[in-house]
Amino acid sequence: MNKMLSKKVIGYTFTLLFILIISGVALFQIVTNLYVLLAVLVIQFIVLLLLLFHFFDKYVKPIDKVTETMDKLLKGNYHSRIHQPMSGSIGELSTKINSLARSLSELTISEQIQAEQLSTVIENSESGLVLIDEKGYIHVVNRKFISMFGKTPHDYIGYLYYDVLENEQIHHTVQETFLYEKHVKHLFSLSKNDEKIYLEIVGAPIFNERNMLKGAVLVIYDITEFKNLEVMRKDFVANVSHELKTPITSIKGFAETLLDGAENDPEARKQFLQIIFDESKRIQHLIDDLLILSKLEKDESAINVDPVEVGFVLDEVLPVINQHAEQKKIDIQVDADKELIFEADEEKIKQILLNLLTNAISYTPEKGTISLAIKDSEENVCIQVQDTGIGISKEALPRIFERFYRVDKDRSRDTGGTGLGLAIVKHIVEVHHGEIKVESELGKGTTFYVFIPKEQAE
Ligand code: ADP
Repeated sequence: MNKMLSKKVIGYTFTLLFILIISGVALFQIVTNLYVLLAVLVIQFIVLLLLLFHFFDKYVKPIDKVTETMDKLLKGNYHSRIHQPMSGSIGELSTKINSLARSLSELTISEQIQAEQLSTVIENSESGLVLIDEKGYIHVVNRKFISMFGKTPHDYIGYLYYDVLENEQIHHTVQETFLYEKHVKHLFSLSKNDEKIYLEIVGAPIFNERNMLKGAVLVIYDITEFKNLEVMRKDFVANVSHELKTPITSIKGFAETLLDGAENDPEARKQFLQIIFDESKRIQHLIDDLLILSKLEKDESAINVDPVEVGFVLDEVLPVINQHAEQKKIDIQVDADKELIFEADEEKIKQILLNLLTNAISYTPEKGTISLAIKDSEENVCIQVQDTGIGISKEALPRIFERFYRVDKDRSRDTGGTGLGLAIVKHIVEVHHGEIKVESELGKGTTFYVFIPKEQAE
């Protein structure tokens, strides 16, 4: 029994005694027989006691329970309920209080879920986020921001932004956002682990419902990849222009010489026309390779997957390759599971073989040997092209798949290379979700391994 309840019990007992004394004094005036008076008083006492108990059990206890539950609810314990069965209007009140408590607890749960969702979004955002109030204090920094600028959230939260953020550009962005009360955007770079990272920062003001400035959100995007791509694109355009310039200058020069009178000398004419023809072939080769690359990049998933039979592909590729090999008296040894069938884009697999075998011939001296093996290797088909050629140095090896990279520019030009062959091979392997590896030793030879999954994912 709680304190309030015991106080009430004492109060009601005194009331009962008071009623008994008053009625006893009143009855004493009317009833003269002492026994009758005592009997009346005892009966009256029992009736009053029963009434008091009934009243207490039906009204006082339930109201007390309701008050107690309301107190708990007010203190934020929304799991509190009235379990005692009650009837009448107090029963109705307790049902309503229970359903109010249920709604409150549902509301808190959904609020908690919302808050958790919001903090998950903020924490896992791919951009750095900082929330600053109108006085300049930092309230939120997310994981990405920490990964960009280091330290821990405790080093930022609760501090003035200009005390803890070292970057001047961030200070400018906050100041301008507060000053102009509109979105502000800036670009800047940082040096991190000896690497330059490029960042874009956007400051956005926050207003309350009365349109008064309440703070600012800073969003910081890492645009390094985008910047690098831009640099790569510029390099690519410069490289293509450079690659085209050499043969075009040559064609122009020899055409001019012919026009200036060399056409009358049959020998010079033949020689110059041959050069013009060779250079135009080079341009055509370059443009063909560029078109293959751009097609591959435009729609990476656009491969026509069909069952490819190894024997069939070899019948198409080997005659072309043998023709080149014969000119250099190079022996080509083939060891292939001709019946092996796998899922791939047939034209692109032919392209891989053509490029790797052409390179093997180009970079192998006369009378060398080239081995081609196509084998079943668990989930993959393994294509292996090995030569006994000049080999590639350790330093150059990681770069040979870059566009326009050549170990020896003049040698590549002499063999009619565009510097794009291996970039194309790598791209084709990637669109087939495969892998390419290379081993090489200077003066001994090179081996390329290509693994293509036998089954292509939809
Ligand atoms: P290229 O058209 O110049 O052959 P690739 O992209 O096919 O261009 O090859 C890039 C460079 O890799 C070549 O210039 C060459 O230096 C080197 N390379 C490729 N294949 C071989 C090989 N089998 N043996 C030696 N060097 C090779």
